[in-house]
Amino acid sequence: MLTSSVRWGGGSDERPYLPRAISVLAAGDGQLSFVLEVVGPGTERLVELGAGDRLRLLGPLGKGFTAPDGDRRAVICGGGIGIAPLAMLQHQLLAQEVELVALLGFRDGAHAAGAKLLAGAQIATDDGSVGHRGLVTELLLAELDRDARAVIYSCGPPQMLEAVRAISVASGVPAQLALEAPMACGYGACFGCVVKINDGSFRRTCLDGPVVSADQLATDWLLGEGQR
Ligand SMILES: Cc1cc2nc3c(=O)[nH]c(=O)nc-3n(C[C@H](O)[C@H](O)[C@H](O)COP(=O)(O)OP(=O)(O)OC[C@H]3O[C@@H](n4cnc5c(N)ncnc54)[C@H](O)[C@@H]3O)c2cc1C
Repeated sequence: MLTSSVRWGGGSDERPYLPRAISVLAAGDGQLSFVLEVVGPGTERLVELGAGDRLRLLGPLGKGFTAPDGDRRAVICGGGIGIAPLAMLQHQLLAQEVELVALLGFRDGAHAAGAKLLAGAQIATDDGSVGHRGLVTELLLAELDRDARAVIYSCGPPQMLEAVRAISVASGVPAQLALEAPMACGYGACFGCVVKINDGSFRRTCLDGPVVSADQLATDWLLGEGQR
């Protein structure tokens, strides 16, 4: 959970009361790296910070991805700013010599520049300006057709994660999904980030996730996204 230290308050020239959930892109040599997409006040104030400015950080929090068991390879499938945790995952899996492919989807060529954060990724763009014209899940289906001996690792917009969940359930290929629910505290106190699982109960994304197994999610988990 990240937030700038300055301009605390609710006014337009003050920082938001709540921190924002942000994935670690890379860690090492005493440094943490992040990649941000500005969508509102929290991310805007974080990208405004300059060298020497202070920010508040709480973490690491939550449960992350786990490496594939046995002889399955990793199929990384990401979209938009969801590439952030997948870059670190790729780095860790390559260090463990896990066979993998990376498939990344973006809305246009400008956003596709983020694909550089992963090595050797196949790209899909909505407008066809870079790589395959269409959805990254089309690349995923082709990849699973080629070889279904895989674990899917996914992070991206909720609609993309729902498509990956449905592909995983239909194909029987296990998938680990990193959910992006709005979070207020980040450590389980506020219950603001709950998601419905397949026994009808709710789990806190911050504490029990953000990575969940696709077969644990309720088929209508996405409906709750619009009700927050
Ligand atoms: C576990 C986790 C990891 C995350 N990692 C990252 C990361 O590495 N980098 C990053 O940039 N973000 C990341 N996010 C998303 C980020 O926390 C949210 O986008 C956050 O709400 C942004 O805060 P804000 O104040 O800038 O915008 P808000 O005030 O929360 O939102 C402003 C407007 O943008 C819309 N909006 C909110 N989120 C998004 C979105 N993701 N895409 C498009 N529109 C949106 C809202 O509906 C609203 O209209 C992560 C979220 C989670 C839960």
